[in-house]
Amino acid sequence: MSLPPLVEPADELTVDEVRRYSRHLIIPDVGMAGQKRLKNAKVLCVGAGGLGSPALMYLAAAGVGTLGIIDFDVVDESNLQRQIIHGQSDVGRLKAESAAASVREINPLVEVVIHNTALTTENVMEIFSGYDLIVDGTDNFATRYMVNDAAVLLGKPYVWGSIYRFDGQASVFWAEHGPCYRCLYPEPPPPGMVPSCAEGGVLGVLCASIGSIQVNEAIKLLTGIGDPLVGRLMIYDALEMKYRDVKVRKDPECVLCGKNPTVTELLEDYEAFCGAISDEAAEAASGSTITALELKGMMDRGENIFVVDVREPNEYEIVSIPGATLIPKGEFLNGSALEKLPQDKKIVLHCKSGARSAEALAVVKSAGFSDAVHVGGGVLSWVKTVDPSLPSY
Ligand SMILES: [Zn+2]
Repeated sequence: MSLPPLVEPADELTVDEVRRYSRHLIIPDVGMAGQKRLKNAKVLCVGAGGLGSPALMYLAAAGVGTLGIIDFDVVDESNLQRQIIHGQSDVGRLKAESAAASVREINPLVEVVIHNTALTTENVMEIFSGYDLIVDGTDNFATRYMVNDAAVLLGKPYVWGSIYRFDGQASVFWAEHGPCYRCLYPEPPPPGMVPSCAEGGVLGVLCASIGSIQVNEAIKLLTGIGDPLVGRLMIYDALEMKYRDVKVRKDPECVLCGKNPTVTELLEDYEAFCGAISDEAAEAASGSTITALELKGMMDRGENIFVVDVREPNEYEIVSIPGATLIPKGEFLNGSALEKLPQDKKIVLHCKSGARSAEALAVVKSAGFSDAVHVGGGVLSWVKTVDPSLPSY
C-alpha cells in the first residue's frame, strides 16, 4: 500500500539546508521534494523517554521542521541507561527541556515546541490538532488508549511503539486507511497482568531498535514514500534477532473506528478504563494501606509484624526493606505463599509501587488474614521517605 504524502513541500531549502541534508537529497525517493516536505512537517513526540529519545534525535537530524515534545517528568538517574537524549548533567531537569536542548544541538534549524505538561483529556485534542503526525512513545495503557482515541477522532495518523525486556512492537495506526489501536487491542489487559518496563526491565538499546522504526515510518508518511506500516504489526525479538510482521485488519466492530462506533468522543477517565488495579485489589487495599513511614514506626516499636516483599528475586537484590521476606506475587496467586505466613503476626505486604502488593493483599485477606495491610507506594516510597541512601530503580 502506498499513501499520498502527509505534508505539502516548503517553498524552498536554504543553502545551509541543502548542505546539511545532502545525503537525503541525493536519494531519488526523497530528493528535494521530500526534504521540503520534512521541512514543512509538524511532528509531536509523546514522551521524551525510552522511545522518545531516539525518535526525537533522528526526527531532528532528518530536518523535520517543527518538533513538539510533550513530557511532564524530570530526568532520573535510572533513565540514563536508555534515554539517550538526556545526559548526566540533565538529572533533575525537566525531560521536555532537556530533550529540547539536545534537539537544538543536533539541528538548530528545527523549531522546537515544548509542552511541559501531562497529556490529559483536557489538552490532548488541542495539542494534537497542531501537528501533522504523532509519534507515540508512551509507556502506559491509559495514555496509549487516549492517544489512539484522540488521533482517530482528529483523523490523524500516528506511529506507535512498545518495548519490554527484549521484545518490541511497532505499527502505524491511521483509521482512514487501516486499523486503529483498538482494532488490535479492543480491551486493555487486566490490571497487573502486563508488567511495565519499570517493573520488568527493558534492554536499553531496544529503545533505539523500535524508536528508529517509528522515525522510519514517520518519514515515509510525511513524504509519501514506500510501504507504510499501516495494517501491519512489526514484532521484534532482540534475543532471537528476528523481525516479523503480521497483518492487522480493521475491525468492522471497532467501537471507535468501526461501522457503528459507540465511542464518539474521548472517554472521561482513561485511568479508570484501564484500571490501575483490579476491583478485588482496590477493595482489599481500602482501609488496609499504610505508608512506608508508618511501617518504619511499627518496626521501631518492635510490633509483632511479618513483612513480605512480593516482588521478584532480582528486584529484591537491587533494593529491599530490611527484614522483609521475599515471596513473589505468583506464589500468592497460586496459593503456595499462604503456608509460609505466620498465623500469629500481622502481615505487611509490599512491592515496588503498591500495585502488586494490593493484588497479593486480596488473596491474603480472603484466606483469613483479616488484619493484613500493604504499603502504599512500596519500596519506592520507603527509599524516598525512610532511607534515601538506598538505590531507587
Ligand atoms: Zn479501530
